[in-house]
Amino acid sequence: MIIDGKQIAKELKEQMREQVAELTEQYGRKPCLDVIIVGENPASMSYVRSKIKATEYCGFDGELIQLPETTSQEELLRIIRERNENNNVDGILVQLPLPKHIDEQCVINAIAPEKDVDGFHPTNVAKLWLNQHTIVPCTPMGIVALLEKSGTPLEGRHAVVVGRSNIVGKPIAKLLLDKHCTVTIAHSRTANLAAVCCEADILIVAVGRPQMITGDMVKPGATVIDVGINRTADGRLVGDVDFDSVAPVAGAITPVPGGVGPMTITMLMHNTIECYKQRINK
Ligand code: NAP
Repeated sequence: MIIDGKQIAKELKEQMREQVAELTEQYGRKPCLDVIIVGENPASMSYVRSKIKATEYCGFDGELIQLPETTSQEELLRIIRERNENNNVDGILVQLPLPKHIDEQCVINAIAPEKDVDGFHPTNVAKLWLNQHTIVPCTPMGIVALLEKSGTPLEGRHAVVVGRSNIVGKPIAKLLLDKHCTVTIAHSRTANLAAVCCEADILIVAVGRPQMITGDMVKPGATVIDVGINRTADGRLVGDVDFDSVAPVAGAITPVPGGVGPMTITMLMHNTIECYKQRINK
């Protein structure tokens, strides 16, 4: 089975669009997401365009703030503080990565936790690990939605997460733990990665290495979620999973493109609505 992230994302966005129309009527203003991008990294520009398109579709207000590569950290922090204080702004997203002269963690820390639609602020990360209600990072939340929508049983199953980044690997491991999976986190120092992957009922791959997981590393019937987005020399988008060799072995698999990517954007819309609702109800 191919898990069609594009279709699932479309259905969820349609529901959100209706919800936003109702909320706007009820509270007299639209949810507002401001997106900040520094520099002109082509991949980042493309993600930001998709995010803005989704906000427009869902009926949000918002501003795209495009800053030159040479923007100083102080200037970026000033712009964030301004948005923190603006009562009409519900969510602030700073597209990562940032230019090398800017300290990413310092920028994340500057976003008000209640407007942190990415769920990267230390307060929100801590709340996630303490099982307190919070904003959950978009990609991991999108992965859980894909697993649930595709009817993948989670409780008691062995999930292997390849990759331990703060934005994907660690939070998805935590969310799967909450769903009562037995979770293994693998990384670049894992001994015998293939054997570890072969034990997975659910294999989540977030490494950033084109097509590194091959069919011989997958347990027959496993559900495989490919988070990777890599561009090949000839301009094609490929995942971290070698789709052609893994698809015949897996029970279910996400494609790239059209798997996790659209869900990430959809969950960003979800998080913006959550921030809006929390702020309205304060
Ligand atoms: P990252 O921060 O670079 O982390 C990569 C992880 O993979 C690290 O934990 C690293 O281990 C591990 N790794 C690297 N080489 C490995 C190897 N040979 N064997 C096993 N593990 C290895 O990357 P990320 O931000 O999590 O992103 C991962 C991929 O997902 C990228 O392709 C990115 O573009 C994509 N992505 C997609 C979405 C989406 O919406 N679809 C969202 C976010 C990211 P160490 O910790 O030991 O270095």
